[in-house]
Amino acid sequence: MKSHPEKETIYFIVPRFPYRFITDFKFSLKIYNMKGYSFPLALPSLINLTDETRWNLVVTDENISPIDYHLQPSLVVLTAMTCFFDSAVKIAKKFRQKNIPVICGGIHVSLYKNLKEHPFSSIVIGEGEDIWNEILDDHSKGLLKPVYTNDRHSPLLAINAEKVNRYIDYSQYIFYSIQATRGCPFDCNFCAVKEFNGRETRHRDIESILDEIRHVQKTKKEIFFVDDNIIGDKKYAKDLFHALAGEDIFWTSQSSVNIAFEKDLLHLAAQSGCEYLFLGFESPQKESLTLLNKQVNLSGQDRYPEIFHNIRSHGIEIMASFILGNDSDTRESFKRIIDFIEKNHIVFAMVNILTPLPGTKLFETMVSSSRMIDDDFSHYDLQHAFFAPAKMSAAELESGLCSVYQEIYNLNSLYRKT
Ligand code: SF4
Repeated sequence: MKSHPEKETIYFIVPRFPYRFITDFKFSLKIYNMKGYSFPLALPSLINLTDETRWNLVVTDENISPIDYHLQPSLVVLTAMTCFFDSAVKIAKKFRQKNIPVICGGIHVSLYKNLKEHPFSSIVIGEGEDIWNEILDDHSKGLLKPVYTNDRHSPLLAINAEKVNRYIDYSQYIFYSIQATRGCPFDCNFCAVKEFNGRETRHRDIESILDEIRHVQKTKKEIFFVDDNIIGDKKYAKDLFHALAGEDIFWTSQSSVNIAFEKDLLHLAAQSGCEYLFLGFESPQKESLTLLNKQVNLSGQDRYPEIFHNIRSHGIEIMASFILGNDSDTRESFKRIIDFIEKNHIVFAMVNILTPLPGTKLFETMVSSSRMIDDDFSHYDLQHAFFAPAKMSAAELESGLCSVYQEIYNLNSLYRKT
């Protein structure tokens, strides 16, 4: 989009993620002939709220195109999860050298309590939407504060797709991302959702979701509901799926495994175009689930085969994620996960190392018991052992993870699973 000469420019940037070779799944981008999976939602929410009569907006996702360091914006806005916080720091330093103010928000600056030295002019703690225009007003007056804190969990706002799509080229991404809800009622000890988004499920008005989908569906039919748990509020989920049933889309989202025991919900999800559900199985072992406080799985753990059958019988495919590195995990756990994946014919499996994310109970436990062995945030890619595991070394855990990937994605295994 061309800049308007009389207005000042805000440069919104998504910093580069530190993908490691075993989970970048670049082959799937090649199959789809796309450059990325989906555009993170934090920045579109702010673009949506920015007054275009006052500001030129320029957007770069560093994962698919280079940052324009020749641009002279009046403000740079970054969002950062822990794993790409270091990328955000590098970008901020370059713009600050040119005396351009840089604001950073997102889950890392919101939840990492030990953030001391950093190059940002301002950080935003909590959700940015509520205070975005206050921040812009402060910037216009030259009075940016070093810290903005928003501890409210406000209702989700409608997104003006026509406006946001003028700045973000979604044709380069496999999915168009939408968020219908925020929050999850569960309390898994490794998950930062409840700290950032809360345990109560907040939702968007369904009509506004339909409006957004109708705007994009002529060019983009693959929708990713970037919800923490699409069935966090089952009544709302039913209404949403019911409303989506008339639309010409395919959708994917994250859900807790108990969706498999909700016949009506599953039926409506399938009718509304649900193609894939991303489910956190975490472990086939009860002891690990207990350590993770994954209560929703514990109550259905002996019914895992039923979960696969019920969901697949509705024509919905399962993407499954697992965690290795629990205190109950031994060298035998690698083989146990491989066997589980093969036995249940899981083609799309993601296996991660237990990662103590800032803001979680797990993080507090690891810090207070002096088990953290790494403080390089760029290693927060779910593939590094950040702490000393109980029953193996960190190096064994990392190499064991590589061997799991080699096994589950080799051609023989893929053949056996299909
Ligand atoms: S069910 Fe998923 S989103 Fe909810 S708390 Fe557990 S890991 Fe987080």
